[in-house]
Amino acid sequence: MRESCGVFGVYAPNEDVARITFFALFALQHRGQESSGIAAADGKKISVYAKMGLASQVFSEESLSHLVGNIAIGHNRYSTTGSSRQYNAQPIVVDKGADAIAIAHNGNIINAKHLYEELYAQGYTFHTTTDSEVIVNLILSSPEKNWVDKIRYVMRRLQGAYSLTLMTKDALFGVRDPFGVRPLCLGSIDSGWVIASESCALDHIGANFIREIEPGEVVSISENGVDSYREKTERKALCIFEYIYFARPDSIINGRLLSTARQAMGARLAKEYPVAADLVIGVPDSATSAGIGYSRQSGIPIGEGLIKNRYVGRTFIEPDQRIRDLGVKLKFNPLPHILEGKRLVVVDDSIVRGTTTPSVVRLLRKAGAEEVHMRICAPPIRYPCFFGVDMATRRELIAAQKSVPEICQFIGADSLGYMNVEGLIESVALPRDNFCLACFTGDYPIAVQLEMDKLALETVQAEHEVLSKAARR
Ligand code: SF4
Repeated sequence: MRESCGVFGVYAPNEDVARITFFALFALQHRGQESSGIAAADGKKISVYAKMGLASQVFSEESLSHLVGNIAIGHNRYSTTGSSRQYNAQPIVVDKGADAIAIAHNGNIINAKHLYEELYAQGYTFHTTTDSEVIVNLILSSPEKNWVDKIRYVMRRLQGAYSLTLMTKDALFGVRDPFGVRPLCLGSIDSGWVIASESCALDHIGANFIREIEPGEVVSISENGVDSYREKTERKALCIFEYIYFARPDSIINGRLLSTARQAMGARLAKEYPVAADLVIGVPDSATSAGIGYSRQSGIPIGEGLIKNRYVGRTFIEPDQRIRDLGVKLKFNPLPHILEGKRLVVVDDSIVRGTTTPSVVRLLRKAGAEEVHMRICAPPIRYPCFFGVDMATRRELIAAQKSVPEICQFIGADSLGYMNVEGLIESVALPRDNFCLACFTGDYPIAVQLEMDKLALETVQAEHEVLSKAARR
């Protein structure tokens, strides 16, 4: 399961804003590993550099030196809408003379196809196949006079999830959708302000965390200072998977350190599903904290039974068949010296399709584990996500097709315990109606249409591309 993106923005006169943005993207790499990009503005123009690859692969001293100015935004991408291609890398800059604007987007716009068709009919042209370019063109099409009003106009028309950093030639904006599906926070540095998907990015660049940007809020930062504007919100719907898996354990969301929330999940699993065992393992890295929580609550020692190859991120080198056959071994190395003859409790974040967990169980048994008891922080995932998480179709979700005992048998575990929704909510210590829980409950905070719509934007854009090519001939 992949998250859609990490976004960042900085407004800091007299600072090397591109370098600050690079290090923030470095800290947000876990949110997207397909492409990385930075756009910078110096009051007169916007420059952009974005390519496929990790931030450390994309940028060099040379490329950063061309990104000059007082303001910058940055983006790490994992594609949801729009394929994984260079032309879809962000930030996207649309330059209409005085109206130049750049966007970095985390989320997924449900009504993008409808809005795209409307803009296309008005003569707007598109150079990517992302819903993010729809947002930026919609802003430019707004009849309002100033940028904040243009953005607020667009917020009333967009349906779906969006945490944005936007930049004009002389101002930075942070925007969070009225449901607050994706996180976004505000920080300060010596001579300016920063906006980031997660607070861990602020820590790495020496910024101070000020506060989270609220659902439905637009924060505007310019030479006039920081201003805030609020759109009406019906309810909050932060994606609960930020707590389970996406965000880094050292980030703080809603005032709660993610590591603490994950330890509480592990402790809850230990209370609900006790078992006689010798060792607890948290599948690294996302379930490490939950493993600690299970161990503390149960009194069963925790150990390192699986070592993760941390540099397995996205690679553009195709593995040959022999390497491909290694499957999960490429990612995890079991430690037979520790696992031999042990009854294990293995805590993991989630089971989506059920393609990885059987391999992990097999790997542990082959390394000598006598029993493997799986404990899962997320409740069974029975419904797909429409808000920017590349999960699976309903048909592919194992919990939509099989009962828990059937899944246990399928993955080859001795026992399987899933967290329930109540336990999850107690672990994050906030009221239930703050969260989107739709992939467990099917109760979507925003009305969604048919699953087919996920592909609809790219399909209609491809058709238009063919038509305009034919017209040019
Ligand atoms: S459906 Fe699931 S993954 Fe998608 S936003 Fe809601 S909680 Fe997150």
